[in-house]
Amino acid sequence: MTELDGTLTDLARQRSVGEPIVSLYLDVRWADEQQRERVRLFVQERVRHTLAHYPPGTPDRPALDRTLQRVLEHVNGLTTQASPAEKDGFALFACEGLGLWQPMSFRRPFTPELCTDAIPHLVQLARLADDFEPAIVVVPNQAGADVYEVRLGDLATESSLRGFVPRRDRDRFNPGAARPGQRFERQEKDGRHEEAFIQKNRRAAAAEVELRLSRTPGAHLVLVGTAQNVAAFERELPERARARVIARLPRPREWESTGGARRDGVVAGAAAAVAEHERAAERRIVDVLVGEALRGGLGVVGPEDVVQALNEGRVHRLVLEEDFQRAGWQCDRCAALGATRGADLCPYCGGDLHIVQQLGEALVARTLAGGGAVEVVAHANRLHGYRGVGAFLRQTAPTGLRGASPPWPTASLDSGRA
Ligand SMILES: [Zn+2]
Repeated sequence: MTELDGTLTDLARQRSVGEPIVSLYLDVRWADEQQRERVRLFVQERVRHTLAHYPPGTPDRPALDRTLQRVLEHVNGLTTQASPAEKDGFALFACEGLGLWQPMSFRRPFTPELCTDAIPHLVQLARLADDFEPAIVVVPNQAGADVYEVRLGDLATESSLRGFVPRRDRDRFNPGAARPGQRFERQEKDGRHEEAFIQKNRRAAAAEVELRLSRTPGAHLVLVGTAQNVAAFERELPERARARVIARLPRPREWESTGGARRDGVVAGAAAAVAEHERAAERRIVDVLVGEALRGGLGVVGPEDVVQALNEGRVHRLVLEEDFQRAGWQCDRCAALGATRGADLCPYCGGDLHIVQQLGEALVARTLAGGGAVEVVAHANRLHGYRGVGAFLRQTAPTGLRGASPPWPTASLDSGRA
């Protein structure tokens, strides 16, 4: 869960009625003029290629042409900027008829893509949302903790949680005030006192971290420091907060510095921890999914079963391999999707079908639009044996009976809002 979830769902509900929606993804890491030129040429070439499919006189051409020219201008503007402000990836969704113009920049580059379709292409954005789940990074210290909130791979906030230093402890740093005979006793007492106030600060910092965790659902916790400091801090966390710790890291060298280098270290450390956690989570998710499907539980694998579940409005969470490539069809009348080749008419309503070149994008958009979640997983896992797609199903029984009544779109819209 990330702050992109709402954006993804909003985009997934966009559907063009006139000219198609333009989806653009770019890698905007440029160190020299050649790389900028490569990006400009890629976009120009794709725009030319796209317009070639809309001969002059085609009804949708003028609006699409205007949108694409606007995209070109925007990209030209980007490539003439001195620095893309530490952003490596750029995404844009645009359609004049829908009043859609949504440029977005991220810390991670995308695979370059410019396409036009009735729906926005969201696989790359969904993948990014998966990989950049928010993290709260805590570096405990004697006075409390330094806390960094990392969102979408970028530092969102940075704060120092500081407890109060009691007046007596300021006195302690002036040992000359004590008479020689009292010194040992005084030191012991101060030592105990110091422990007590470190403990108090630790407790206050832990409470504040817990509060922030509760305000950021889905955020992971990354603890940084010596094993001893981290363990002491962790003991102060309630169980539910402790369960969200995904990594305990030693303090990297760049954290000793201040400012930019330190922030970069925080972001990189958190991103690596979240990415590693995500890879492991993906493997578990796929194992659970395949297990559910094999024993006839709340899971299905393979394009045909997934598409059927989606048409019936039963998909709770779609699991898709990042390089899923497959064509399918969509019904012109009831909008049902299909994965089988060679179908002539819609099995639900008998309507005419049109080819959907990128079935994966259609599955992602349909799932998100129905209020479901999407998990884009890396290639080379058990899912590949099931042609790269599966889905967890909703607990509720299917509302649509195949053949009895058309389950799409009524059934899916109802259960999608549940
Ligand atoms: Zn149909």
